[in-house]
Amino acid sequence: MLSLIKNRQLVNSQLFINGHWISAADGQTFDVYNPFDHELLGKVADGGVEETEEAIVAAHTALASWQALAAIDRSRILKRWHNLVLENQEDLAILLTLEQGKPLTESRGEIAYGASYIEWFAEEAKRVYGDTIPGPQADKRTIVLKQPIGVVAAITPWNFPNAMITRKVAPALAAGCTVVLKPSEETPFSALAIAYLASEAGVPPGVFNVITTTQAAEAGEVLTSSPVVKKLSFTGSTAIGKLLMKQCADTVKKLSLELGGNAPFIVFNDADVDAAVEGAIVSKYRNAGQTCVCANRIYVQEAVYDVFVEKLKVATDKLRLGSGLNEGVNIGPLINEKAATKVEGLVKDALECGASLELGGHRFYSGSLLYLPTIITDARFEMKISSEEIFGPVAAVYKFETVDEVIRLANNTDAGLAAYFYGKDNALIWKVAEALEYGMVGINTGIISDAAAPFGGVKQSGFGREGSKYGLDDYLVTKYLSIKT
Ligand code: ADP
Repeated sequence: MLSLIKNRQLVNSQLFINGHWISAADGQTFDVYNPFDHELLGKVADGGVEETEEAIVAAHTALASWQALAAIDRSRILKRWHNLVLENQEDLAILLTLEQGKPLTESRGEIAYGASYIEWFAEEAKRVYGDTIPGPQADKRTIVLKQPIGVVAAITPWNFPNAMITRKVAPALAAGCTVVLKPSEETPFSALAIAYLASEAGVPPGVFNVITTTQAAEAGEVLTSSPVVKKLSFTGSTAIGKLLMKQCADTVKKLSLELGGNAPFIVFNDADVDAAVEGAIVSKYRNAGQTCVCANRIYVQEAVYDVFVEKLKVATDKLRLGSGLNEGVNIGPLINEKAATKVEGLVKDALECGASLELGGHRFYSGSLLYLPTIITDARFEMKISSEEIFGPVAAVYKFETVDEVIRLANNTDAGLAAYFYGKDNALIWKVAEALEYGMVGINTGIISDAAAPFGGVKQSGFGREGSKYGLDDYLVTKYLSIKT
């Protein structure tokens, strides 16, 4: 199926180190499958400790000349990269759907979204402003400089195989840092295609290296223990984020962690219920529910509970499952068997604990990774589905009575990434917006992502921000000069 890709140069299956495509030293490869039909898409080089160390050396060697470039020159290279990504949008989208499963329209959207971060940071590269501060004495001046932190390690997940990479690599490169990327073993092709386009755009050898590997723990150990690597940016599960944070302690690395969410989606009595249903559909079912900002707990106030559930059922029933390559499909497969088994377990537990099944509740057919869009009502706090990230197309709906009650329920989790609510009253909007302990709050909207906004979480969803004027700070260090005139 990779034959569907017109620009054959986008299809690479080797490690990308110091501007070269190389095999693993021991010749090992791993298989990459299409989650829709389990077709073997290809074999990709399985790097390990040795290759990761090699990539760190390459990134370190390339650092001096990359950070010495004028910001405008780095900016121009990033702009070329952005343009090349968009010129290859269709091919990149097909590649993404083949290895990840999401519908082609979503993949096209992700490529454009991923490219928007490259464009944004191409601009921001020119705006690494410092400060001048009045000195403590008449003959002293204080100047604040922002400088690139150095070699950056990036570890990314499979749910956004393109955008999670550009969101890290574009600001790192804009700031003058060099990168060793370890993408998810589920979706290496997208990562290698982006790296190829970066090099075509003029990103010099060693500035952006990619280690594809099934030995995530070993590669992670090398990246986190290396004194040369000054920063780790990670998007993935909370458990692995905590582990990497511990591993980074010995070398006191700067960290950006974008970990799991458990998003509340609240519908108040005065909400526009149709708009809330529309928002819930995109927020819940996008990417088959496999995003860290997906609505995880849908709280509906009692007066609109029945009408909301009814309308959600009608809208959900219209969603079509299938191969992401087929136009009109809204929900593709889950990424792997482990993910499907987890979703099955959460639904089973909820039903055993007294929830009601309104729609779906099983796989499309036996053995398939397609899971029917599902609605569960009468959900309650004690159910696993309330405290765990579902990462599947299952909407769990809870009934609540008062504003204070729902704020307490919404905040009753260790996670703090995204939250959503629908309501009209101005005082209510401000109260709830300020009370929610989340890094991002969608108000009367189910879509919050934007390169101009600071994406990130609080509490155990991590820290650091991707995108916006704040995003570059994650890749910079602050130094001040105290000058006697
Ligand atoms: P998910 O469950 O969503 O796949 P993970 O946190 O397991 O989330 O994976 C996110 C990224 O972290 C992937 O690139 C994966 O290979 C990587 N990863 C998993 N375990 C480790 C580890 N021990 N050290 C470093 N990276 C890891």
